[in-house]
Amino acid sequence: VTAAPMTTSLPASALRAMEHVQGVRLIRMQRELATFGGRADGGVSREALTATELAARQWLCSLCTGPQYQWYVDDAANLIVRRQGSNPALAPVMTGSHIDTQPVGGWLDGAYGVVAGLEALHALDDAGVTTQRAIEVVAWTNEEGSRFSPGAMGSSAFSDPARLPAFLAAQDAHGERFENARNAALQATPAAQRIALGHPVHAYIEAHIEQGPVMENSGHSLGIVTAIQGVRWYEVTVHGSSAHAGTTPLAVRQDALLSAANMVSQLGVAANERGDEALRCTVGRFEVAPGSINTIADRVTFSVDVRHPRDSELDAMQALLHEVLARHRGACTYEVRVLMQRAPTVFDGRVLAVLEAASRATGTSHCHIGSGAFHDAMYLADSCPAAMLFVPSKKGISHNAGEDTDPADLIAGARALAAALVALAET
Ligand SMILES: [Zn+2]
Repeated sequence: VTAAPMTTSLPASALRAMEHVQGVRLIRMQRELATFGGRADGGVSREALTATELAARQWLCSLCTGPQYQWYVDDAANLIVRRQGSNPALAPVMTGSHIDTQPVGGWLDGAYGVVAGLEALHALDDAGVTTQRAIEVVAWTNEEGSRFSPGAMGSSAFSDPARLPAFLAAQDAHGERFENARNAALQATPAAQRIALGHPVHAYIEAHIEQGPVMENSGHSLGIVTAIQGVRWYEVTVHGSSAHAGTTPLAVRQDALLSAANMVSQLGVAANERGDEALRCTVGRFEVAPGSINTIADRVTFSVDVRHPRDSELDAMQALLHEVLARHRGACTYEVRVLMQRAPTVFDGRVLAVLEAASRATGTSHCHIGSGAFHDAMYLADSCPAAMLFVPSKKGISHNAGEDTDPADLIAGARALAAALVALAET
C-alpha cells in the first residue's frame, strides 16, 4: 500500500454492504458459536484444537457454502474462507481473529472478529456486491496460548513460516504435541483445501472487543486502534549478605530486602510522577532468600513489567529503572536481566484512514485508542498493512465468563468492518 491522503471517501459498494449487515443474523451466529464449549455461567471453554474447537471449526465451514466461497486450511491449521473477487490477480483483503478461548473465557474474545467478518461476507452476498479483490475471513490457531505456548501461533507463523517448526514441538499439559493437535484440525474440515502458509495479503483488519473499560467510560461505540503497546520484562536481583537478625548492628548490614523494597517503592513513585496515562509499570513477583524470620535477606529477585505505545518512552523507563536501582541499592549490589521485549506495533495510516471513514459512515461515535493486550493483528502488521477495530467491553471484563458487549455496539462494529473491507477490496 502506497502513501495516500489521510482523508478517504468510501465507494458506494462499501456503503451498500454496510447497509446489508443484519444485526439479528450477526447475534444469532455469535450465540451459536458460543454453544461450542458453552458453560452454564455464560462463559465459554473452548481451548485451541480441542474436540470442542474442532467442532466449532466444522460449523464455521457450514456458514459460507455458495459458489463464490472457498475454504482453506494452512500448515498452522489457520482456517480461512475466501469470497472471490473479480480480479484473481490481486492479493486479498483479510479480516478475522481467533475462536480459541482461555480455559474459562467469555463468548466474544476473538469469536467476535471471526463472526463479524462472516457477517460482512453475508452482507456482500445480500447486497449483490462483487469486490475487485477477494475478501478472506480467518480463524487463527491458538491465539490464547493457554493450551500451547506461546500464544498467537497461527498468526505468528503466517507472518513468518520459519517459526512453525518450533511451534509443532510444543506440548500441552498432558504431553500432547501441537503437531498432533494440528493434524487433527487438518482432518476436521474436509471442505477446506490445503493452502501454503503465509500467502500475500493486501491489508488486514481485526475486529475485537476492547477487554478494558476505556471506551465504556468515554461512551464510544467504535474504537480505531492506532497501536498495540510495547512491553519489556526485567528481572532484578539484589545481592546482600545474610547475617543474624539479633547480633548485626543496623549500620553495617547489607540487607537485600530493605534495598529491594526501596527500589520497588521508588520505582512506583517515579513512574507515577511521569504523569503519563499510557504508561504501565508493574512489579508482580518478589522473592526473598533465605526467607527466614531472624536472618537478614541476602538475595531478593523481583520482576518489572513496563508497557507503553511508544518505544522512546520504553527507553526512558529503562533509563529510569537503572537510575532508581543505582540510587537505592544501599550497601547491596544488583544485576538486571531483560527477560522479554516486544516493540510497540504502530498500525498502518491508510488502513486507519479507511476505518475512520467507515466508522463515520455508521453514524455511531468513535474514538482512537491504543491496545493494552496483544492480538493476532500484531503479527500481521509485520507482513502487511494492518489495523484493528474495537467495540466496548461492559465494565472492561474479559477472560471471564462475565464478558459482554451491548448488541448495538457489536452491530456497529460489523457495519464499520463491512464498509472498510469493501473499501480496501476496491483499491
Ligand atoms: Zn482475543
